[in-house]
Amino acid sequence: MAIAITNPTTGEVVETFKPHSDDEVDRRIAQAQSAYEALAGTTFAQRAAWMHQAADILESDVDQLARMITIEMGRPIVQARAEVLKSARGCRFYADNAEDFLAPTTLGDPSTVGASAAGTRYAPIGIVLAVMPWNYPLWQVLRFAAPALMAGNAGLLKHASNVPGSALYLDALFEHAGFPEGSFRTLLIPASGVERVLRDDRVKATTLTGSEPAGRSLAAIAGSEVKHVVLELGGSDPFVVMPSADLERAATVAVTARNQNNGQSCIAAKRFIVHQDVYDAFLSSFAAKVAALTVGDPLDESTDIGPLATKSGRDELAGQVDDAVRHGATVVTGGQVPQRAGWYYQPTVVADITPEMRLFAEEAFGPVASVYKAASREDALRLANGTTFGLSSSVWTNDADEEDWFVDHLDAGAVFVNGMTASHPELPFGGVKDSGLGRELAAAGIREFCNLKTVWKA
Ligand code: NDP
Repeated sequence: MAIAITNPTTGEVVETFKPHSDDEVDRRIAQAQSAYEALAGTTFAQRAAWMHQAADILESDVDQLARMITIEMGRPIVQARAEVLKSARGCRFYADNAEDFLAPTTLGDPSTVGASAAGTRYAPIGIVLAVMPWNYPLWQVLRFAAPALMAGNAGLLKHASNVPGSALYLDALFEHAGFPEGSFRTLLIPASGVERVLRDDRVKATTLTGSEPAGRSLAAIAGSEVKHVVLELGGSDPFVVMPSADLERAATVAVTARNQNNGQSCIAAKRFIVHQDVYDAFLSSFAAKVAALTVGDPLDESTDIGPLATKSGRDELAGQVDDAVRHGATVVTGGQVPQRAGWYYQPTVVADITPEMRLFAEEAFGPVASVYKAASREDALRLANGTTFGLSSSVWTNDADEEDWFVDHLDAGAVFVNGMTASHPELPFGGVKDSGLGRELAAAGIREFCNLKTVWKA
């Protein structure tokens, strides 16, 4: 895939970039190593001041950045602005909390281990390589970069090839904020160049957000090098609606939960599992709201749904729906590629999905909702857990016992009750099963890339 900005609204190539040579990549790794060594001599307070400065820069650049995101990958401008501000919030969160999250601990009674003092300290590990996707081109990166830098690590970024504008902005951001030169470096390289970087002795760990094949490939290399890996690989999250739920609210939130970011979110609700007693009422309300979404130019403030980020992504999604229709599914609304320039797909609701259809097992990365009817709560749970993914989940019920039962039994990295899944700097984020390994955000996220050092003193 060429490293280029191609506007998905028009299909036109805006700018192409020359990949970094091996020599340039090596120079950047060396810079990151020097920065890591320089960061060792800094305090949390110093890094926090720089991180707040990075947040200030993001906030003051919000309009320019939102426009860049929208042109690079089609995110509606209002949502792109929110992404920039959320990224700034993530920086501030780690600036304010990193020291507490990484505070040393002491064993209450060290004599139990034969010591005069014992406990733990968190130490940085060095350079961490981040392989990142295009769907939230700033937020996905900053939720890694902010904790990594606050812990005293340096970061290398291999961003998706279709968002080089975001990649280069991030290359400069932390230096502008005051961090030592090279603390966070972008590598303009294709996916095929990642292995060489990860096998470099100076690179100590890696994190990837993206597709399952990319994650498996990276983890295999990390495994062979005995390097720590965090993976965030997408999902097919269930959105379960039970009879006691506030149906109108559930249907309204379901529309956003599925269609945010033009439906290209790992934590989007993708499978709507509705109890038979409220199935017809939910489906008609939900489908009517989906049909009312405004599809248009993502630079227009009133647009709800813009184009998909890539033509291949749009064609893949259209193929999944066409396959379902061929096997007898019902398209309740949408289901077509609109007749217009750009990589659009109509917001779509599909019902009567059966296991032989691709939509049943695959992640639908775009504005396509699959709706399932459940005969009971056990049946709803069976459908919800009947996937190889396990990122997050959402359950709608006003029965307190049912809430706890679903929280206990849903096989996912998160359960949101009567609300849609979202990532928050304050809460851990990550999946089980094929959705990934490890956690981002909160205390867990910053500790992933630290050496938890046990200290024992005679
Ligand atoms: P990819 O997984 O291909 O891309 C994500 C990142 O990984 C990019 O930087 C990409 O680089 C890189 N990459 C790809 N293959 C490898 C590899 N073998 N080794 C190292 N790095 C690699 O995602 P796509 O953009 O192709 O999207 C395909 C599907 O992935 C989507 O339909 C969706 O299911 C899932 N996805 C999930 C996301 C999430 O948030 N969890 C985000 C994006 C996609 P390059 O761009 O140069 O190929």
